[in-house]
Amino acid sequence: MSSKKEFETGAIRNQMPRSGYSEHTSAMYLTSSFVFDDAEDMRASFAEEKEKNIYSRFSNPNNTEFVDKVVAMEGAESGYAFASGMAAIFSTLGALLESGDHVLSARSVFGSTHALFTKYFPKWNIETSYFDIKEVDRIEALIRPETKIIFAETPTNPGLEILDLEFLGAFAKKHGILLVIDNCFATPYLQQPIAFGADLVVHSATKLMDGQGRVLGGITVGRAELIREIYLFSRNTGPSLSPFNAWILSKSLETLAVRVDKHCENAMDLARYLEKHEQVNWVKYPFLKSHPQYEIAVKQMKKGGNIVAFELKGGIEEGRNFLNRIKMCTLSANLGDTRTIVTHPASSTHSKLSAEERAGVGISDGLIRVSVGLENISDIVEDLSQALNI
Ligand SMILES: *Cc1c(COP(=O)(O)O)cnc(C)c1O
Repeated sequence: MSSKKEFETGAIRNQMPRSGYSEHTSAMYLTSSFVFDDAEDMRASFAEEKEKNIYSRFSNPNNTEFVDKVVAMEGAESGYAFASGMAAIFSTLGALLESGDHVLSARSVFGSTHALFTKYFPKWNIETSYFDIKEVDRIEALIRPETKIIFAETPTNPGLEILDLEFLGAFAKKHGILLVIDNCFATPYLQQPIAFGADLVVHSATKLMDGQGRVLGGITVGRAELIREIYLFSRNTGPSLSPFNAWILSKSLETLAVRVDKHCENAMDLARYLEKHEQVNWVKYPFLKSHPQYEIAVKQMKKGGNIVAFELKGGIEEGRNFLNRIKMCTLSANLGDTRTIVTHPASSTHSKLSAEERAGVGISDGLIRVSVGLENISDIVEDLSQALNI
């Protein structure tokens, strides 16, 4: 199905075979199971002597279409789709890790991923050590004989730090450790970690992949023999993506490139506007020259993404007041939506951390994160500007 095509073409033309109705857009296969012609067909299907859908927890044509598109976009060999990004991350790590294994993770990872490492994996005797992006030279010292996986996100949420994928890929290879990258913030349109040596790439498809705030989804793609393990684990444990959501996500990918281009253009314009604002201490956006890892960002990303972080003058109180003055943009826990979303991590997502822990992951009291949407940039700027100019 997915012969080599340009990114935008593959996103549209990598399509499942048409049914007997000659539909133009792919059909939706809302069926829990599939039928066999006879006993031999059933035997051969279960024996995996032929590729055939058996049960939608294992595979479904809509899931396969979505997976095949992302596999082509990421330059991967194989993949499996999940009900959410966290289902993808848990199942990927759960399938590959054994009791006694050790994980090396970037300190700044998605909150629920962090909870897996700190609260749940210790139950199965799996320990995690953390490396700081500013001291990657220290990570060599953190390796143990039982280190199985290096896990990282780039850009990070919400600090927008950039990890050097070329360095991590070479490092993991040198030490024979698997490298798993959460590529959610960049999407495969902006960054393809496998080209830098990642073994597996995980995504929350809920964010820019859907891009319209409608469904949850997740996906893992990468080396075929690893995906096989993840598939076998998942077909038994049951975190599969629903075919309905797979259909939505596959349609969403058709417009990923044009949407993400516009998201990035709006985000860059907003970042430039905020950089000059006197109520703003600093602005962080991967493609601003002032970003501490700008050189790495332009080396590994096509554009800077849709998230802009900035620090308001003032503390927690000023952050809350700023949110209360926002009129058009929305206060919401999602990101990567058509709608611009504004959050204040210190008083919401990261309020359970102490001030020191927040500082450790780059979250100051005045930090505001904007998931820049697809509204006209003049309306986005006007809303943030009226909330800043008190
Ligand atoms: C949202 C997110 C996740 C989790 O995805 P869900 O679809 O919400 O389960 C994982 N990693 C990153 C970077 C995210 O932004």
